[in-house]
Amino acid sequence: MQQTVSKRVNALAASQTLAMSQKSSELRSQGIDVINLSVGEPDFNTPEHIKRAAVKAIEDNFSFYTPVPGYLSLRKAVSEKLRRENGVDFAPEQIVVGCGAKHALSNVIMATVNPGDEVLIPVPAWVSYMEMVKLAEGVPVTVSTGLEQDFKITPAQLREAITPRTRALLLCSPSNPTGSVYSREELKALVDVLVDFPDVLVISDEIYEHINYTGVPYTSMASFPELEGRVAVINGVSKAYAMTGWRIGYCALPLHLAKAVTKLQGQMTSGVSSIAQKAAEAAYTGSQECVEEMRQAFERRRNLVVELAGKIPGLRISEPQGAFYLFPDVTHYLGKRFGEKTIATDSDLALYLLEEAHVATVAGSAFCAPGYIRLSYATSDDRLREAFARIATALAALK
Ligand code: PMP
Ligand code: GLU
Repeated sequence: MQQTVSKRVNALAASQTLAMSQKSSELRSQGIDVINLSVGEPDFNTPEHIKRAAVKAIEDNFSFYTPVPGYLSLRKAVSEKLRRENGVDFAPEQIVVGCGAKHALSNVIMATVNPGDEVLIPVPAWVSYMEMVKLAEGVPVTVSTGLEQDFKITPAQLREAITPRTRALLLCSPSNPTGSVYSREELKALVDVLVDFPDVLVISDEIYEHINYTGVPYTSMASFPELEGRVAVINGVSKAYAMTGWRIGYCALPLHLAKAVTKLQGQMTSGVSSIAQKAAEAAYTGSQECVEEMRQAFERRRNLVVELAGKIPGLRISEPQGAFYLFPDVTHYLGKRFGEKTIATDSDLALYLLEEAHVATVAGSAFCAPGYIRLSYATSDDRLREAFARIATALAALK
């Protein structure tokens, strides 16, 4: 038999965040003390009351196939969360639970994008956005931002990027990989452009909403009445409740799109894990104190890494306002040499830091932003101190 792989998968880039994490695990299994700042996931354990709900679900025999869009009780809890925390109205019928926000997002893209449709992606952007759009045979259209504009697109850039083929805008705030957060005013200015293009769907990735250091309550894109009926909210429990492995996310959508996503999910995966759904329900209906406790820990680490990065000459940063990533501009170090080796690109630098400093990061190119690297600071203060000390030494060795 010919060992062929579909063109679809051949054309797909592998997830660099997961690849770097895998590489760091491999080195660790060889006994090397690698500090993994590559993958972005909270290092906390899932809170006790959530774990207990899962144990109870097993004991109560929640072991059968689940409804395709998720248990009604979970969708009700999500609907209430959206009202309580975001002031937005989505009925349980408008919510579809997927295997993580990643799956929910891919479902929405698959259910809305036709071949040739353009999807606007402000970059730097999370590694999977471009590839998901390509899988749907859409055309990812990047809108470039840099450190000097705090990695946020301007209304003028948005207006310029929209064409008659634009199907959707994919916005992520707080942003992975930059940590930028759009203020309500900045979002409103984008909304004012979008009202002129009523056919453009807004896909709003709100997975980091709770990891917010602005001191100002979070604004969901769905809370603007001007965008009524054309916002798809993506969110889930991975980041806010330290539940990355449970794989629960959701999309909240106009009803006709929720039906389309449910049809798709019914053929592709069925409803997601019963036990994880019951745990997620406990996350949304239980005490929210754990969310604030973890947020405070992330904010403390944000302050620490900003201070540590500030001591390394040549690293330019924009202080992150949310999520748990630092995204320094490393162009100062590109073109320098380590012995015989030239560090020509951000990917070379990420590899150099892994091999020489034993610190795993992700190259900015993976996020369509060459010249930067991403460091996840979702790890202990001690490990962060050690990581930055190693990075400083390795960078100082470049000539
Ligand atoms: N969106 C963004 C921006 C992310 O960083 C992640 C984390 N991988 C996700 C979506 C997906 O999260 P999950 O599938 O774990 O819910
Ligand atoms: N959001 C995380 C990251 O960007 C998880 C890995 C992934 O799914 O890409 O590192």
